[in-house]
Amino acid sequence: MTDFLATGSLPDEYRELALTVRDFANRVVAPVAAKHDAEHSFPYEVVAGMAEMGLFGLPFPEEYGGMGGDYFALCLALEELGKVDQSVAITLEAGVSLGAMPVYRFGNDKQKQEWLPQLTSGRALAAFGLTEPGAGSDAGGTRTTAVLDGDTWVINGSKQFITNSGTDITRLVTVTAVTGQVEGKKRISTILVPTETPGFVAEPAYNKVGWNASDTHPLSFTDVRVPAENLLGEEGRGYANFLRILDEGRIAIAALSVGAAQGCVDESVRYAKEREAFGQQIGRNQAIAFKIARMEARAHAARTAYYDAAALMLAGKPFKKQASIAKLVASEAAMDNARDATQIFGGYGFMNEYAVARHYRDSKILEIGEGTTEVQLMLIGRELGL
Ligand SMILES: Cc1cc2nc3c(=O)[nH]c(=O)nc-3n(C[C@H](O)[C@H](O)[C@H](O)COP(=O)(O)OP(=O)(O)OC[C@H]3O[C@@H](n4cnc5c(N)ncnc54)[C@H](O)[C@@H]3O)c2cc1C
Repeated sequence: MTDFLATGSLPDEYRELALTVRDFANRVVAPVAAKHDAEHSFPYEVVAGMAEMGLFGLPFPEEYGGMGGDYFALCLALEELGKVDQSVAITLEAGVSLGAMPVYRFGNDKQKQEWLPQLTSGRALAAFGLTEPGAGSDAGGTRTTAVLDGDTWVINGSKQFITNSGTDITRLVTVTAVTGQVEGKKRISTILVPTETPGFVAEPAYNKVGWNASDTHPLSFTDVRVPAENLLGEEGRGYANFLRILDEGRIAIAALSVGAAQGCVDESVRYAKEREAFGQQIGRNQAIAFKIARMEARAHAARTAYYDAAALMLAGKPFKKQASIAKLVASEAAMDNARDATQIFGGYGFMNEYAVARHYRDSKILEIGEGTTEVQLMLIGRELGL
């Protein structure tokens, strides 16, 4: 794999994948995006279509039912989907990079054989349960516990804001839990919890500002008993393992954000050529043209940032700082572009059925989920030795 990726000169297999997903996004996703957003309904038919295309298996080897691609391929797909519907894009992002990837990275053979074929085919979804009411940015505040009782883990506690955790096809939640203490420091481990396990409950879905067609629930665990062999990776390594998952996930969220930022540009260019005021197209006003030019620059700069982080990751080089930078600038580009696009659309931009209005509501969470803007700044500062 190359450690150089440039916008505008992608190798053929990547370019073809991006074009295929773009076509799917325009033909299948876009026509139902406003409906699912208004109804707050999970787009099962769209997810089935993505499954059929193999998108849930993109970065996994064929022996586990995957497409044999890589993480950058996943990012390209997320960018294309993010242009038209962030809910659909985050469903794929969370399903792959938070749901299946921990099993692939840290699972043993038996766990991989059991779970990956279902997850890579898109027949089933897995969720990643890290955040708790008292533990978000400071994940060390985890209170959920898992205690060994013979050869069974007994899990008690709660999680909140968990994506893909309550759909009809959700089969697995990977949870972080405190499994002990050493010198006053919590030992945090990750455990696989099949959703049919008694005592596990996905509480009613949240009423969110955006990402309305994405599935998000609080979860509760009351004496949930799973076999000791459901431990994912080493006991006490859960914290380190999920940090690796989040580092990668930031590149994926950056790609989704670039899609959102670019979607706002594309919509604005089209509208600025079509809408007339004072006897001419609004795009003929330099104030509008400059606004759109700046939006394009933000999207492009953010794209180069996530390409760079992905290239380093694929080349096996350190990419932590670049992933945080990509997530930081891309999420801000999405939010800024959504605000500007809404302004360009005038009153129509405030109508929910318009794509730019959806981006306006959807983009805020990009600056919060998988590490807030402030957390990215902390991580970048730390990499600089501050
Ligand atoms: C729609 C949605 C989907 C999500 N999906 C998932 C999921 O699938 N799995 C999962 O585990 N979690 C998920 N999350 C949770 C998300 O990752 C957290 O909300 C996020 O990490 C922030 O945590 P918090 O909400 O507890 O905020 P807090 O950590 O309480 O932060 C509150 C504010 O304080 C700031 N802050 C905190 N500490 C510092 C500091 N040291 N310096 C400066 N500022 C600071 C933060 O940046 C933020 O602005 C999801 C959230 C949402 C809304």
